[in-house]
This record gives sequence, structure tokens and C-alpha cells, in this order.
Amino acid sequence: MKQYDVAIIGGGISGTALLYELARRGDVQKVVLLEKYGSLAAVNSHGRNNSQTLHCGDIETNYTLEKALQVQKTAQMVVDYAESLPPFERERLIFKYPKMVLAVGEQECDKLTTRYESFHPHFPEMELLDAQGIATIEPMVVEGREQRINAIAVRDQYSAVDFNLLAHSFVEQALRLQPGFEVQLGTRVGTITQQAGGFVIESSAGRLAAKSVVVSTGGHSLLFAQQMGYGQEYACLPVAGSFYFTPQLLNGKVYTVQNDKLPFAAVHGDPDLLVPGKTRFGPTALVLPLLERYHWETLPQFLRVTKPQLAVLRVMGNLLSEAEVRHYMLRNILYEVPGLGRRLFLKEAQKIIPTLQLEQLEFAKGFGGIRPVMIDKAQQKLHLGEAQIDPGTGILFNMTPSPGATSCLGNAQRDADRIVNFL
Ligand SMILES: Cc1cc2nc3c(=O)[nH]c(=O)nc-3n(C[C@H](O)[C@H](O)[C@H](O)COP(=O)(O)OP(=O)(O)OC[C@H]3O[C@@H](n4cnc5c(N)ncnc54)[C@H](O)[C@@H]3O)c2cc1C
Repeated sequence: MKQYDVAIIGGGISGTALLYELARRGDVQKVVLLEKYGSLAAVNSHGRNNSQTLHCGDIETNYTLEKALQVQKTAQMVVDYAESLPPFERERLIFKYPKMVLAVGEQECDKLTTRYESFHPHFPEMELLDAQGIATIEPMVVEGREQRINAIAVRDQYSAVDFNLLAHSFVEQALRLQPGFEVQLGTRVGTITQQAGGFVIESSAGRLAAKSVVVSTGGHSLLFAQQMGYGQEYACLPVAGSFYFTPQLLNGKVYTVQNDKLPFAAVHGDPDLLVPGKTRFGPTALVLPLLERYHWETLPQFLRVTKPQLAVLRVMGNLLSEAEVRHYMLRNILYEVPGLGRRLFLKEAQKIIPTLQLEQLEFAKGFGGIRPVMIDKAQQKLHLGEAQIDPGTGILFNMTPSPGATSCLGNAQRDADRIVNFL
């Protein structure tokens, strides 16, 4: 049986960033990355399935200042990585677009002004714009608008990333630095067992042993943890996000102000990196019993991590007891209904572009991923953001909803520290 120092399971942005980080440090020699599909970053890290945003904390009104500063730091790591590449490579994977968060109506405008005052000292490139200022960047946001608007905007920073190409770039760089590292595509891991001195991994390509293992397989990570007796306090609430296309109407990213009562991020619109000439609106937030979008074979795996236990039902009951959350979740189901969904979503998108017409809007078929949101059964609440299970035995399990792609290098640094200390 082949022996490794470290096995990384999952070839999305998290797994590939860790491969790169280990190669860059050079403290471990025998590292393997195992990915079940024939290509890297084919699930949530593919640009088709996420919003392609480098979250810097400045326009995300669902973040506290503390979270914003933490995200800003990890986003900068991605920028620094990209800037270390030759221009022709960098230009394929990271993009500068103007970005803003738009407030509509007196209440939101006041809230955004207060936010600007406390955030601006930490984000000096932020501008607070009125309608006239907004029109200099995004004329369509102002056209036909009756209500008062303002926005926090940043004009000239990296704001969009093709995370799929970034994952490929991490692997190329890792193999350049450490030609002995291995990447096995088309290798599905079945079970991980702890044994004296490490772990044995059974995969579709056979058995291997590793002293340390990092599992970065999205919602599947919780399943692996639970199979080994860890993470029993969690269940998974998979929240799918779909998108809608329009012709190109926006020059950059336009986010909207977060409704504090809703646990899922507000809708935004931006140019699509993968479909030139289209503006993409979304994501919606649809609870689905799947660990991977459009992959119904992951239904049994979802049922294994989220059993209909009392604690799970209580969390769902608490969520649904708020009328606003109930209506929001219902609306998000209806957005998927052919014909009706488009009409309903139009209202949401008109918050960004008031003159948007129904015939300009089309459902982005085949686009959209799943955010594996953790349910904390012990505390009976949703654990928003990323989660990690670290039993202290040399294995780590990562569950990474948004902004997990932005924080890939920050998470990789944290995991590499733990592994190297452990080894
Ligand atoms: C709608 C939506 C919008 C988002 N927008 C943003 C955004 O704008 N910015 C941002 O920073 N983040 C965003 N995110 C979050 C971001 O996409 C994720 O945090 C990130 O892609 C997670 O990467 P990952 O590598 O952990 O997981 P994944 O990309 O899901 O990769 C997991 C990998 O594990 C593999 N795998 C699974 N099971 C096995 C097995 N048994 N054996 C071997 N391999 C296995 C899978 O095939 C996959 O390649 C968004 C997410 C969604 C759903």
C-alpha cells in the first residue's frame, strides 16, 4: 500500500489551495490530492456554480466589521498570488470591475451611510455615492428610479475571480514547486479509517495510507466526519443558488443591502466571466435535499447527514416561525417554476435595474451550486459561514459555504499549520 505524509480529499478550490500551500512551504514531501471527478473544481468552485466574487468585506452588508476585515485579509492573499503570476496567466483568472452595494429607500440609505462611517477608516478606497455618483458607474441602476438611493462603491480593485482556473493554477504551481506531489483525478474516496500511525483511505483506485488527511469535499466532508464518529453535533442544510441572465446591463458588481432577518445573502447582479455579453443576477436560496446541485445521486448522502431528528426539526421550525423567512423561502421555491419564476424574480432584479423587462430575463439553466450550511444541533441554530471539524488526531474536515472560495488561501494556511505541527 502506498504511503503518504498528507492526503487531501477534494479537488475544489479548498483542496487545491492547500496542495499549493504545502508545496510552497516544502515541509512535507509526499502529498496526494484525490478528486472523484475527471476534472478539478467541477462542483461549487466552478464559475458556473458560484458568484465569481472576490469578497473583500467592503460591500457585503451581511458581514460585521470583524468578519469584513478577516475576509479582506484572505482576499488580499488571492490578489497577491495572482500578482505573482505572469500577466497573461493573471489576466485569465482575476478581474477588476467597479463594485457597489446599493441601498434603496430612506431606511436602507440611512443604514448604509452609518455603515460607511464605521467602515471607511478600514477601507479607504470606499466612496459613498448619491444617485448622480452611481450613474457615473452604473447608469442603468439610476434610470427610471423614483425612490432615493445611495451606494458604497469601490471603483478600481480586483473584484471577480474565475475560481475554477484559480484551482488549476494552484495545481500547476504546486507541481512545478514539488514535482513529487501527486494529483489523482477520477478517484472517489469511499471510506477513511484511523489506524496506528495514520489513516487508511479506500478509494475507487485502491487503498493508500497517509499520516494526516484533510477532507475538503463540501457537504460530503460532514458525511466522512460522521462515518468516523466525529461531528455528530452537526447536520447539513443544503441551500442551492440559481441565477438569471439578462443582456449586458451592468458594468460591474451591484450588490443589495442585506435584510437582517434573512440568513442568506441578498441578490446581486454582475457581468458573467464565463458568458461574455450577459449580466447574471442571483443567487436565489432554495433548500434542496442534495449535497451537489443537479446530482440526485447525492440524495442518500444528504439523508445520512441530515436525519429528521428533533433538533433539526426545531431549527427548521424556528426558521419558519418568522413570517418574512417563510415568504422568502416560498418565493425561492417559486423562482424555479418555469414561467412563474421569471415573473417573480423580475421584481427582485428590478431593485437593481428598475427598467428591466420580463423579456430581457432568462433562467440560467445548469448554473448554480449548493452552499452546505451547517445546522448546529446542540445549539439548535444555523451555523452560518465556514465550519471545520478538527478532532486533533491529524484529520481535518472542511465545510465551506460562501465566502469559502475567497478565503481558500487563508484556510489553506491555517490547515497547513495544523498538519505540519501534527506531523
Ligand atoms: C451559489 C453560490 C455562490 C457562491 N458565490 C461565491 C462567491 O462569489 N465568492 C466566494 O468566495 N464564494 C462563493 N461561494 C462559495 C464557494 O463556491 C465555495 O465556498 C467553494 O467553492 C468551496 O470550495 P471547496 O473546494 O471547499 O468545495 P467544492 O468546490 O464543492 O469541491 C469539493 C470537491 O470535493 C470532491 N469530492 C466530493 N466527494 C468526494 C469523494 N468521495 N472523493 C473524492 N473527491 C470528492 C468534489 O468532486 C469537489 O471537486 C458560492 C457558493 C454558491 C453555492
